[in-house]
Amino acid sequence: MSEDLYLAMDLGGTNCRAGLAGLDGRLRNMRRMATPDLASPRDFVSALADFCRLVMGDVRVQSFGLGVPGAVEAAGRIAFSPNLPQLNGLPLALELQELLGMPVRVVNDANAIAVGEACYGAGRELDSFLTITLGTGVGGGLILRRRLWEGPDGTAGEVGHLMVEAEGRSCACGSRGCLEQYASGPGLVRTYRELASAVAGAVAPGPASGEEVAQAAEGGDAIALASLGEAGRRLGQVIAGVANLLNIDGVIITGGASGHLPLMLPALHQELHLRAFATAGRRLAIQPGMLGDGAGLLGAARLAAMSPTHFSVNDEPLNS
Ligand SMILES: [Zn+2]
Repeated sequence: MSEDLYLAMDLGGTNCRAGLAGLDGRLRNMRRMATPDLASPRDFVSALADFCRLVMGDVRVQSFGLGVPGAVEAAGRIAFSPNLPQLNGLPLALELQELLGMPVRVVNDANAIAVGEACYGAGRELDSFLTITLGTGVGGGLILRRRLWEGPDGTAGEVGHLMVEAEGRSCACGSRGCLEQYASGPGLVRTYRELASAVAGAVAPGPASGEEVAQAAEGGDAIALASLGEAGRRLGQVIAGVANLLNIDGVIITGGASGHLPLMLPALHQELHLRAFATAGRRLAIQPGMLGDGAGLLGAARLAAMSPTHFSVNDEPLNS
């Protein structure tokens, strides 16, 4: 008997990646393309559908799971995307379903990552945990008692928009001082520039990305090290609050910028120790993700395999 396969896609601000996933946790037919122009929603959806057909080829798939950077309502309509506002209000699941003739499940990309790590990665042994995805933004996905907690409006788990500085940097979500503005790649660059100008006045441009800040830190650049320490401190503040609120088992840190984690961990643990209840803080395992950028695709496929009317992950434990 041939294995059931699901189409999975991750829609990013710059690139879209897609592939076919079985429930064995393996990805096949992986492809990547530049994110289509968002100026015309009709052309955008049609370009996504063409990409889906290319990835599927002659393979028959059961359904399609699509991770998007935004809050997604139950019917697969994108309610709010801080970093891709052109998607706001787009009934993406319905439109793709009509074009492709198969069930489509649209999910928040960070929630898809949480489900992927829960089923196949670092979260397999954890009952309740949070994933924090560090990249261009800071995403979050919450698994409680082996179920994805999305909330009635699909906005749960958004740790990137918890406040760490009351009058801090303004954020695309409309608030100020959100964690995302300090712990994302662009946030790191901004911290570096602020610290550099405080030390030396007018300075050379300095690192242009989170990766470049990390490279400078590994080369011994004191300002880069301090910038990563600052991001770690802010992450630790938020994680301590999460520990006190939810008393979960772990935090899994993933995403492009999570490679800098070792340089952020000392400040992170210091804040966690200072601020969390001792028992809740001790229980919390802080660990990197295991699946890299496959987590979101595997999680989207897993969610697509569930009944579209059922908005917890499934009725069974995720790792059964
Ligand atoms: Zn925000």
